[in-house]
Amino acid sequence: MKLPIYMDYNATTPMDPRVVEAMMPYMTTKFGNAASRNHSFGWEAEEGVEHAREQVAAAINASSKEIIWTSGATESNNIAIKGVANMYKDKGNHIISQVIEHKAVIDPCKYLEQNGFEVTFLPVDKHGMVSAEQVREAMTDKTILVSLMHGNNEIGSINPIKDIGRLCKEKGVLFHTDCCQTFAKIPIDVEDMGIDLLSASGHKIYGPKGVGALYVRRKKPRVRCEPIVHGGGHERGMRSGTMNVPGIVGMGKAAELCVQNQAEEIAKITRMRDRLKDGLFNRLDEIFLNGHPTQRIPNNLNISFLYVEGESLMMGFSDIAVSSGSACTSASLEPSYVLKALGLGDDLAHSSIRFSIGRFTTEEEIDYTIERVCVAVEKLREMSPLYEMAQEGIDLKTVQWAHH
Ligand SMILES: *Cc1c(COP(=O)(O)O)cnc(C)c1O
Repeated sequence: MKLPIYMDYNATTPMDPRVVEAMMPYMTTKFGNAASRNHSFGWEAEEGVEHAREQVAAAINASSKEIIWTSGATESNNIAIKGVANMYKDKGNHIISQVIEHKAVIDPCKYLEQNGFEVTFLPVDKHGMVSAEQVREAMTDKTILVSLMHGNNEIGSINPIKDIGRLCKEKGVLFHTDCCQTFAKIPIDVEDMGIDLLSASGHKIYGPKGVGALYVRRKKPRVRCEPIVHGGGHERGMRSGTMNVPGIVGMGKAAELCVQNQAEEIAKITRMRDRLKDGLFNRLDEIFLNGHPTQRIPNNLNISFLYVEGESLMMGFSDIAVSSGSACTSASLEPSYVLKALGLGDDLAHSSIRFSIGRFTTEEEIDYTIERVCVAVEKLREMSPLYEMAQEGIDLKTVQWAHH
């Protein structure tokens, strides 16, 4: 087993060697500009791009004409949200989203708020989910767009996308979903789920960084987005600029590989995730799973280790790469806005760690991680007077702390 161990697959994934192999020719011999129409170098590049478009479309039951290439899911989200808002502003100025979206959805929504739009950020339940009923209640005759993510990147919960999509169809409101964590990895069907716009990224599916896709429905209804980047009119006018051919070819190959082996990969990763979860829960007390217990993406485990501070815990096993629930800034240690939105107190939010595994995770790595994490937690708790008091049966909520 090689150290350090990578358990941060929700942040990014290593490229699959088969993806690198597929990209290689497009960086060397097939280097043409996909927009060059009058020679074979251009045609060859275009062929690569169009094949990848089909591979990505096939992963979500879309037509290849409905796929727009972007620089990543951040850009896809921006085009979907700002593009729809600007195109349909005569119809209404109201957008519905939720508080635990990725910043790549929240920030474009906030930008629109400063520019005459109204955004309802729905609260989430204790598992980090919204319901179609909540969306229905928030809708007004001014609502033009609902943007709600599929799988959450921090806590892994999966929203009831199909119920929400069907509601949007019934109401004639466009529905966008950020599927970065689920695209090609769990079944998605844009027809069955009533999705009008969908964002995906290359580097979350064992493909390259700096490439993404946006699905834009062409029929029932035909959705239009005003561009953010102008110039040249590529990608049906929605995204100008010379295409990142190697990146696109890589994302297509990555999507195809995920889909080909989807069921087996879900089963394998779920088994490993459960092994990690059981290993930790069997040995440690006072630890809590964040996110929904079953409605979650297979590869994510977000756990709060009460009486232990997440950042200190991470330092206790520096040969394992994970994420903590606190964004460490120089001035303060702010707990994650996602965990806070679930109703977690600062103590639980500050003690959370996100483990995310993937295609190249081994059982050996899981077992090593269980041992390292348990030892680190036990060590820190040995030094914790609060943990000691709790062990003695003192209810910490009733303790009168001295103020100075
Ligand atoms: C990673 C991620 C993004 C950003 O994707 P990029 O391709 O890195 O811009 C957006 N949303 C979610 C849910 C993500 O996990």
